[in-house]
Amino acid sequence: MKQDKRDDETGMQTKAVHAAREQHTTRAVSSPIWQTSTFRADSSEQFAEMAAAARPAEFYTRYGNPTHREAEATIAALEGGEAALVAASGMGAIFTAMLCGLQAGDHVVAQRNLYAGTNTLIEELLPRWGIEHTFVEQTHAANFAEAVRPNTKLIYAETPTNPLMRITDLRAVAALGRARKITTMIDNTFATPVNQRPLELGIDVCVHSATKYLGGHSDITAGVIVGSQEFVERAWKFGLVAGAVLSPFDSWLLLRGLRTLALRVERHNQNALALARFLEAHPKVERVYYPGLESHPQHELARTQMSGFTGMLSLEINGDLRAAEKFIASLKLCTNAASLGGYETHAVHPAAMWGQQLSAEQRDAMGINERFVRISVGLEDEADLIKDFAQALDSVKE
Ligand code: PLP
Repeated sequence: MKQDKRDDETGMQTKAVHAAREQHTTRAVSSPIWQTSTFRADSSEQFAEMAAAARPAEFYTRYGNPTHREAEATIAALEGGEAALVAASGMGAIFTAMLCGLQAGDHVVAQRNLYAGTNTLIEELLPRWGIEHTFVEQTHAANFAEAVRPNTKLIYAETPTNPLMRITDLRAVAALGRARKITTMIDNTFATPVNQRPLELGIDVCVHSATKYLGGHSDITAGVIVGSQEFVERAWKFGLVAGAVLSPFDSWLLLRGLRTLALRVERHNQNALALARFLEAHPKVERVYYPGLESHPQHELARTQMSGFTGMLSLEINGDLRAAEKFIASLKLCTNAASLGGYETHAVHPAAMWGQQLSAEQRDAMGINERFVRISVGLEDEADLIKDFAQALDSVKE
Protein backbone atom coordinates (compact mmCIF):
# COMPACT_ATOMS: atom_id res chain seq x y z
CA MET A 1 0.00 0.00 0.00
CA LYS A 2 1.11 3.56 -0.55
CA GLN A 3 3.53 4.90 1.98
CA ASP A 4 2.52 7.81 4.16
CA LYS A 5 5.01 10.53 3.17
CA ARG A 6 4.94 11.98 6.70
CA ASP A 7 6.79 8.87 7.81
CA ASP A 8 9.88 9.74 5.79
CA GLU A 9 11.75 11.55 8.55
CA THR A 10 11.10 9.04 11.32
CA GLY A 11 13.50 6.35 12.52
CA MET A 12 13.28 2.68 11.57
CA GLN A 13 11.91 1.42 14.86
CA THR A 14 9.27 4.20 14.90
CA LYS A 15 8.25 3.23 11.37
CA ALA A 16 8.07 -0.41 12.42
CA VAL A 17 5.63 0.54 15.18
CA HIS A 18 3.56 3.30 13.55
CA ALA A 19 3.78 3.23 9.74
CA ALA A 20 0.62 1.15 9.24
CA ARG A 21 -1.54 3.26 11.56
CA GLU A 22 -3.81 4.54 8.81
CA GLN A 23 -4.41 1.04 7.47
CA HIS A 24 -5.73 -0.06 10.85
CA THR A 25 -9.43 0.78 10.85
CA THR A 26 -10.60 -0.77 14.16
CA ARG A 27 -10.27 0.47 17.77
CA ALA A 28 -8.27 -2.59 18.84
CA VAL A 29 -4.73 -1.72 19.90
CA SER A 30 -3.33 -4.97 18.53
CA SER A 31 -4.76 -5.30 15.03
CA PRO A 32 -7.23 -8.12 14.57
CA ILE A 33 -6.48 -10.95 12.16
CA TRP A 34 -8.87 -10.69 9.22
CA GLN A 35 -9.14 -14.46 9.00
CA THR A 36 -11.53 -14.66 6.09
CA SER A 37 -11.21 -15.79 2.49
CA THR A 38 -13.98 -13.52 1.24
CA PHE A 39 -15.93 -10.32 2.02
CA ARG A 40 -19.66 -9.56 1.84
CA ALA A 41 -21.13 -6.96 -0.54
CA ASP A 42 -24.32 -5.12 0.45
CA SER A 43 -25.63 -4.77 -3.10
CA SER A 44 -24.85 -6.04 -6.57
CA GLU A 45 -23.52 -2.55 -7.42
CA GLN A 46 -21.13 -2.70 -4.48
CA PHE A 47 -20.07 -6.23 -5.45
CA ALA A 48 -19.25 -5.07 -8.98
CA GLU A 49 -17.27 -2.14 -7.54
CA MET A 50 -15.30 -4.40 -5.18
CA ALA A 51 -14.54 -6.85 -7.98
CA ALA A 52 -13.30 -4.13 -10.34
CA ALA A 53 -11.11 -2.25 -7.85
CA ALA A 54 -7.31 -2.32 -8.14
CA ARG A 55 -5.91 -4.11 -5.07
CA PRO A 56 -9.14 -4.17 -3.04
CA ALA A 57 -8.49 -4.79 0.67
CA GLU A 58 -11.96 -6.33 1.07
CA PHE A 59 -13.21 -8.53 -1.78
CA TYR A 60 -11.44 -11.91 -1.81
CA THR A 61 -8.22 -12.62 0.09
CA ARG A 62 -6.23 -13.64 -3.00
CA TYR A 63 -6.88 -10.05 -4.19
CA GLY A 64 -5.99 -8.51 -0.83
CA ASN A 65 -6.87 -8.41 2.85
CA PRO A 66 -6.69 -5.70 5.56
CA THR A 67 -4.04 -7.70 7.45
CA HIS A 68 -1.93 -7.76 4.27
CA ARG A 69 -2.36 -4.00 4.03
CA GLU A 70 -0.87 -3.36 7.46
CA ALA A 71 2.15 -5.58 6.80
CA GLU A 72 2.58 -4.06 3.33
CA ALA A 73 2.38 -0.46 4.56
CA THR A 74 4.95 -1.19 7.26
CA ILE A 75 7.45 -2.81 4.87
CA ALA A 76 6.94 -0.11 2.20
CA ALA A 77 7.76 2.55 4.82
CA LEU A 78 10.82 0.66 6.07
CA GLU A 79 12.22 0.19 2.56
CA GLY A 80 11.24 3.71 1.47
CA GLY A 81 9.07 2.36 -1.37
CA GLU A 82 5.73 3.64 -2.64
CA ALA A 83 4.03 0.28 -2.28
CA ALA A 84 4.50 -3.34 -1.24
CA LEU A 85 2.87 -6.69 -1.94
CA VAL A 86 3.10 -9.68 0.39
CA ALA A 87 3.33 -13.24 -0.94
CA ALA A 88 3.22 -16.76 0.44
CA SER A 89 7.02 -17.21 0.40
CA GLY A 90 10.20 -15.51 -0.65
CA MET A 91 10.25 -17.61 -3.80
CA GLY A 92 6.61 -16.67 -4.45
CA ALA A 93 7.63 -13.00 -4.26
CA ILE A 94 10.71 -13.51 -6.47
CA PHE A 95 8.77 -15.54 -9.05
CA THR A 96 5.99 -12.95 -9.19
CA ALA A 97 8.30 -9.93 -9.31
CA MET A 98 10.53 -11.45 -11.98
CA LEU A 99 7.87 -12.91 -14.23
CA CYS A 100 5.40 -10.02 -14.11
CA GLY A 101 7.65 -7.99 -16.39
CA LEU A 102 9.22 -10.64 -18.65
CA GLN A 103 8.15 -12.44 -21.82
CA ALA A 104 9.63 -14.81 -24.41
CA GLY A 105 12.55 -13.18 -26.22
CA ASP A 106 13.68 -11.15 -23.20
CA HIS A 107 17.08 -11.42 -21.55
CA VAL A 108 18.03 -11.24 -17.85
CA VAL A 109 21.41 -10.29 -16.42
CA ALA A 110 21.88 -11.81 -12.99
CA GLN A 111 24.78 -12.33 -10.68
CA ARG A 112 26.10 -15.90 -10.48
CA ASN A 113 25.99 -16.07 -6.70
CA LEU A 114 22.33 -16.18 -5.77
CA TYR A 115 20.09 -18.04 -3.37
CA ALA A 116 19.86 -21.58 -4.82
CA GLY A 117 16.11 -21.39 -5.56
CA THR A 118 16.51 -18.13 -7.49
CA ASN A 119 19.40 -19.67 -9.38
CA THR A 120 17.18 -22.62 -10.40
CA LEU A 121 14.39 -20.27 -11.50
CA ILE A 122 16.75 -18.31 -13.77
CA GLU A 123 18.88 -21.16 -15.04
CA GLU A 124 16.28 -23.92 -15.48
CA LEU A 125 12.79 -22.43 -15.68
CA LEU A 126 13.22 -19.13 -17.56
CA PRO A 127 14.78 -20.85 -20.64
CA ARG A 128 11.68 -23.10 -20.90
CA TRP A 129 9.64 -19.95 -21.45
CA GLY A 130 12.08 -18.52 -24.01
CA ILE A 131 13.76 -16.08 -21.60
CA GLU A 132 17.56 -16.01 -21.83
CA HIS A 133 20.01 -15.07 -19.11
CA THR A 134 23.67 -14.22 -18.53
CA PHE A 135 25.23 -14.85 -15.13
CA VAL A 136 28.01 -12.49 -14.06
CA GLU A 137 30.48 -12.37 -11.18
CA GLN A 138 29.02 -9.52 -9.15
CA THR A 139 32.15 -8.35 -7.39
CA HIS A 140 33.06 -6.35 -10.54
CA ALA A 141 30.28 -3.90 -11.33
CA ALA A 142 31.48 -3.54 -14.95
CA ASN A 143 30.51 -7.19 -15.58
CA PHE A 144 26.82 -6.26 -15.41
CA ALA A 145 27.22 -3.59 -18.10
CA GLU A 146 29.19 -5.94 -20.35
CA ALA A 147 26.44 -8.57 -20.19
CA VAL A 148 23.61 -6.18 -21.15
CA ARG A 149 22.06 -6.82 -24.60
CA PRO A 150 19.43 -4.87 -26.54
CA ASN A 151 16.75 -7.30 -25.24
CA THR A 152 17.82 -7.15 -21.56
CA LYS A 153 14.73 -6.36 -19.48
CA LEU A 154 15.92 -7.15 -15.97
CA ILE A 155 19.10 -6.90 -13.90
CA TYR A 156 18.82 -9.09 -10.82
CA ALA A 157 21.12 -8.85 -7.79
CA GLU A 158 21.40 -10.16 -4.23
CA THR A 159 23.67 -8.56 -1.63
CA PRO A 160 25.14 -9.74 0.66
CA THR A 161 24.87 -13.15 -1.02
CA ASN A 162 23.76 -16.40 0.52
CA PRO A 163 26.10 -17.92 1.76
CA LEU A 164 29.32 -16.29 0.48
CA MET A 165 28.53 -12.80 1.78
CA ARG A 166 29.73 -11.16 -1.46
CA ILE A 167 28.66 -7.59 -2.06
CA THR A 168 27.15 -6.06 -5.20
CA ASP A 169 27.69 -2.38 -5.90
CA LEU A 170 24.06 -1.22 -5.74
CA ARG A 171 24.73 2.34 -6.92
CA ALA A 172 26.53 1.04 -10.02
CA VAL A 173 23.75 -1.46 -10.83
CA ALA A 174 21.09 1.23 -10.32
CA ALA A 175 22.93 3.69 -12.58
CA LEU A 176 23.27 1.04 -15.29
CA GLY A 177 19.57 0.21 -15.11
CA ARG A 178 18.59 3.89 -15.31
CA ALA A 179 20.95 4.58 -18.24
CA ARG A 180 19.76 1.56 -20.25
CA LYS A 181 16.10 1.70 -19.12
CA ILE A 182 16.27 -1.78 -17.59
CA THR A 183 14.42 -2.73 -14.40
CA THR A 184 16.79 -3.42 -11.50
CA MET A 185 15.73 -5.82 -8.75
CA ILE A 186 17.51 -6.88 -5.60
CA ASP A 187 16.96 -9.54 -2.97
CA ASN A 188 17.40 -7.60 0.29
CA THR A 189 16.70 -10.58 2.58
CA PHE A 190 20.12 -10.78 4.21
CA ALA A 191 20.59 -7.07 4.86
CA THR A 192 17.01 -6.04 5.75
CA PRO A 193 15.97 -2.39 5.33
CA VAL A 194 17.51 -1.66 8.73
CA ASN A 195 20.99 -2.19 7.26
CA GLN A 196 20.48 -1.40 3.58
CA ARG A 197 17.83 0.50 1.63
CA PRO A 198 18.38 -0.26 -2.06
CA LEU A 199 15.47 1.89 -3.31
CA GLU A 200 17.18 4.96 -1.83
CA LEU A 201 20.28 4.02 -3.86
CA GLY A 202 18.25 3.97 -7.09
CA ILE A 203 17.28 0.27 -7.39
CA ASP A 204 13.72 -0.16 -8.75
CA VAL A 205 12.44 -3.20 -6.85
CA CYS A 206 13.31 -5.02 -3.62
CA VAL A 207 12.25 -8.57 -2.88
CA HIS A 208 12.51 -10.41 0.42
CA SER A 209 12.10 -13.77 1.93
CA ALA A 210 10.05 -12.41 4.86
CA THR A 211 10.42 -15.91 6.32
CA LYS A 212 13.76 -14.61 7.61
CA TYR A 213 14.49 -11.36 9.47
CA LEU A 214 11.23 -9.55 8.63
CA GLY A 215 9.19 -12.28 10.33
CA GLY A 216 12.09 -13.00 12.66
CA HIS A 217 10.63 -15.85 14.72
CA SER A 218 11.02 -18.92 12.47
CA ASP A 219 7.26 -19.41 12.49
CA ILE A 220 6.09 -18.26 9.04
CA THR A 221 6.91 -18.64 5.36
CA ALA A 222 6.35 -15.32 3.59
CA GLY A 223 7.69 -12.99 0.92
CA VAL A 224 7.35 -9.36 -0.10
CA ILE A 225 7.90 -7.15 -3.15
CA VAL A 226 8.53 -3.42 -2.68
CA GLY A 227 8.74 -0.75 -5.38
CA SER A 228 6.77 1.92 -7.20
CA GLN A 229 2.98 1.91 -7.11
CA GLU A 230 3.00 1.07 -10.82
CA PHE A 231 5.38 -1.90 -10.49
CA VAL A 232 3.59 -3.33 -7.46
CA GLU A 233 0.23 -3.13 -9.25
CA ARG A 234 1.70 -5.05 -12.17
CA ALA A 235 3.09 -7.64 -9.74
CA TRP A 236 -0.32 -7.81 -8.03
CA LYS A 237 -2.09 -8.56 -11.35
CA PHE A 238 0.41 -11.31 -12.10
CA GLY A 239 0.27 -12.56 -8.51
CA LEU A 240 -3.50 -12.94 -8.77
CA VAL A 241 -2.98 -15.82 -11.17
CA ALA A 242 0.36 -17.04 -9.78
CA GLY A 243 -1.66 -17.47 -6.57
CA ALA A 244 1.16 -17.26 -3.98
CA VAL A 245 -1.18 -15.57 -1.51
CA LEU A 246 -0.14 -15.10 2.11
CA SER A 247 -2.64 -16.33 4.71
CA PRO A 248 -4.09 -13.56 6.93
CA PHE A 249 -2.75 -15.33 10.03
CA ASP A 250 0.79 -15.48 8.62
CA SER A 251 0.44 -11.86 7.56
CA TRP A 252 -0.44 -10.98 11.15
CA LEU A 253 2.58 -12.91 12.45
CA LEU A 254 4.70 -11.03 9.92
CA LEU A 255 3.30 -7.73 11.20
CA ARG A 256 4.02 -8.80 14.75
CA GLY A 257 7.60 -9.65 13.81
CA LEU A 258 8.03 -6.32 12.02
CA ARG A 259 7.15 -4.41 15.21
CA THR A 260 10.61 -5.21 16.64
CA LEU A 261 12.62 -5.40 13.41
CA ALA A 262 15.12 -2.61 14.07
CA LEU A 263 15.72 -3.72 17.66
CA ARG A 264 16.32 -7.30 16.62
CA VAL A 265 18.53 -6.48 13.65
CA GLU A 266 20.75 -4.20 15.75
CA ARG A 267 21.34 -7.09 18.17
CA HIS A 268 21.93 -9.53 15.29
CA ASN A 269 24.52 -7.09 13.87
CA GLN A 270 26.34 -6.75 17.21
CA ASN A 271 26.42 -10.46 17.96
CA ALA A 272 27.59 -11.36 14.46
CA LEU A 273 30.41 -8.81 14.44
CA ALA A 274 31.66 -10.01 17.83
CA LEU A 275 31.48 -13.65 16.76
CA ALA A 276 33.14 -12.93 13.40
CA ARG A 277 36.07 -11.24 15.20
CA PHE A 278 36.41 -14.18 17.59
CA LEU A 279 36.29 -16.74 14.75
CA GLU A 280 38.76 -14.83 12.59
CA ALA A 281 41.38 -15.08 15.33
CA HIS A 282 40.81 -18.80 15.97
CA PRO A 283 43.41 -21.29 14.62
CA LYS A 284 40.74 -23.90 13.73
CA VAL A 285 39.04 -21.42 11.39
CA GLU A 286 40.56 -21.02 7.93
CA ARG A 287 38.48 -18.06 6.81
CA VAL A 288 35.52 -15.95 7.93
CA TYR A 289 33.11 -14.38 5.44
CA TYR A 290 31.54 -11.31 7.05
CA PRO A 291 31.32 -7.88 5.34
CA GLY A 292 31.75 -6.10 8.69
CA LEU A 293 35.32 -7.40 9.03
CA GLU A 294 38.11 -5.19 7.72
CA SER A 295 39.55 -8.34 6.12
CA HIS A 296 36.47 -8.83 3.91
CA PRO A 297 37.66 -7.99 0.37
CA GLN A 298 34.63 -5.74 -0.17
CA HIS A 299 34.44 -4.18 3.29
CA GLU A 300 34.89 -0.66 1.95
CA LEU A 301 32.09 -1.09 -0.61
CA ALA A 302 29.86 -2.62 2.07
CA ARG A 303 30.45 0.43 4.26
CA THR A 304 29.24 2.75 1.52
CA GLN A 305 25.86 1.05 1.15
CA MET A 306 25.17 -0.70 4.46
CA SER A 307 24.77 0.82 7.91
CA GLY A 308 25.16 -2.56 9.67
CA PHE A 309 26.44 -5.91 8.43
CA THR A 310 23.65 -8.37 9.34
CA GLY A 311 23.53 -11.44 11.53
CA MET A 312 24.74 -13.73 8.75
CA LEU A 313 28.30 -15.00 8.47
CA SER A 314 30.05 -18.01 6.99
CA LEU A 315 33.29 -19.74 7.82
CA GLU A 316 35.61 -22.36 6.42
CA ILE A 317 36.79 -24.78 9.02
CA ASN A 318 40.48 -25.64 9.11
CA GLY A 319 39.94 -29.31 8.20
CA ASP A 320 37.77 -31.51 6.02
CA LEU A 321 34.08 -32.39 5.66
CA ARG A 322 34.17 -34.46 8.86
CA ALA A 323 35.64 -31.51 10.78
CA ALA A 324 32.82 -29.24 9.52
CA GLU A 325 30.22 -31.83 10.54
CA LYS A 326 31.81 -32.37 13.96
CA PHE A 327 31.89 -28.62 14.55
CA ILE A 328 28.18 -28.21 13.73
CA ALA A 329 27.21 -31.22 15.85
CA SER A 330 29.20 -29.87 18.84
CA LEU A 331 27.47 -26.49 18.99
CA LYS A 332 25.02 -26.50 21.88
CA LEU A 333 23.29 -23.13 21.39
CA CYS A 334 22.90 -23.57 17.62
CA THR A 335 20.14 -25.36 15.79
CA ASN A 336 21.21 -27.35 12.75
CA ALA A 337 18.32 -26.24 10.56
CA ALA A 338 17.73 -24.59 7.20
CA SER A 339 16.51 -20.97 7.14
CA LEU A 340 17.93 -17.94 8.90
CA GLY A 341 17.08 -14.60 10.44
CA GLY A 342 15.22 -16.01 13.44
CA TYR A 343 15.78 -15.19 17.11
CA GLU A 344 17.83 -18.38 17.55
CA THR A 345 21.29 -19.14 16.14
CA HIS A 346 21.44 -21.65 13.26
CA ALA A 347 24.45 -23.41 11.80
CA VAL A 348 24.17 -25.25 8.50
CA HIS A 349 26.32 -27.02 5.97
CA PRO A 350 25.34 -25.42 2.62
CA ALA A 351 26.88 -28.27 0.59
CA ALA A 352 24.38 -30.65 2.25
CA MET A 353 21.46 -28.19 2.32
CA TRP A 354 21.55 -27.53 -1.42
CA GLY A 355 22.52 -31.05 -2.51
CA GLN A 356 19.12 -31.24 -4.29
CA GLN A 357 19.27 -27.89 -6.05
CA LEU A 358 22.95 -27.53 -6.92
CA SER A 359 25.22 -30.11 -8.55
CA ALA A 360 28.74 -30.50 -7.15
CA GLU A 361 30.02 -28.56 -10.21
CA GLN A 362 27.56 -25.69 -9.66
CA ARG A 363 28.50 -25.60 -5.98
CA ASP A 364 32.22 -25.55 -6.78
CA ALA A 365 31.66 -22.84 -9.40
CA MET A 366 29.92 -20.78 -6.71
CA GLY A 367 32.87 -21.26 -4.33
CA ILE A 368 31.03 -23.37 -1.74
CA ASN A 369 33.30 -26.19 -0.58
CA GLU A 370 32.67 -28.96 1.94
CA ARG A 371 34.46 -27.15 4.77
CA PHE A 372 32.01 -24.30 4.52
CA VAL A 373 29.54 -23.57 7.38
CA ARG A 374 26.86 -20.85 7.34
CA ILE A 375 25.81 -19.24 10.60
CA SER A 376 22.68 -17.21 11.23
CA VAL A 377 23.61 -15.47 14.46
CA GLY A 378 20.64 -15.13 16.78
CA LEU A 379 19.69 -12.90 19.68
CA GLU A 380 21.37 -14.85 22.50
CA ASP A 381 23.92 -13.14 24.76
CA GLU A 382 27.20 -12.50 22.96
CA ALA A 383 29.38 -14.05 25.71
CA ASP A 384 27.34 -17.27 25.69
CA LEU A 385 27.61 -17.59 21.92
CA ILE A 386 31.36 -17.09 21.94
CA LYS A 387 31.76 -19.65 24.74
CA ASP A 388 29.71 -22.16 22.77
CA PHE A 389 31.63 -21.63 19.53
CA ALA A 390 34.94 -21.92 21.44
CA GLN A 391 34.01 -25.33 22.90
CA ALA A 392 32.73 -26.60 19.53
CA LEU A 393 35.98 -25.58 17.81
CA ASP A 394 37.99 -27.25 20.60
CA SER A 395 36.15 -30.49 19.87
CA VAL A 396 37.39 -30.49 16.25
CA LYS A 397 40.57 -32.60 15.90
CA GLU A 398 43.69 -31.05 14.33
N1 PLP B 1 16.21 -15.25 -0.90
C1 PLP B 1 17.14 -15.60 0.01
C2 PLP B 1 18.38 -14.76 0.14
C3 PLP B 1 16.96 -16.73 0.81
O1 PLP B 1 17.90 -17.06 1.72
C4 PLP B 1 15.78 -17.50 0.64
C5 PLP B 1 15.55 -18.71 1.45
O2 PLP B 1 16.41 -19.18 2.16
C6 PLP B 1 14.85 -17.11 -0.33
C7 PLP B 1 15.10 -15.96 -1.06
C8 PLP B 1 13.59 -17.88 -0.55
O3 PLP B 1 12.69 -17.62 0.48
P1 PLP B 1 11.51 -18.60 0.96
O4 PLP B 1 12.14 -19.81 1.55
O5 PLP B 1 10.74 -17.76 1.92
O6 PLP B 1 10.72 -18.95 -0.26
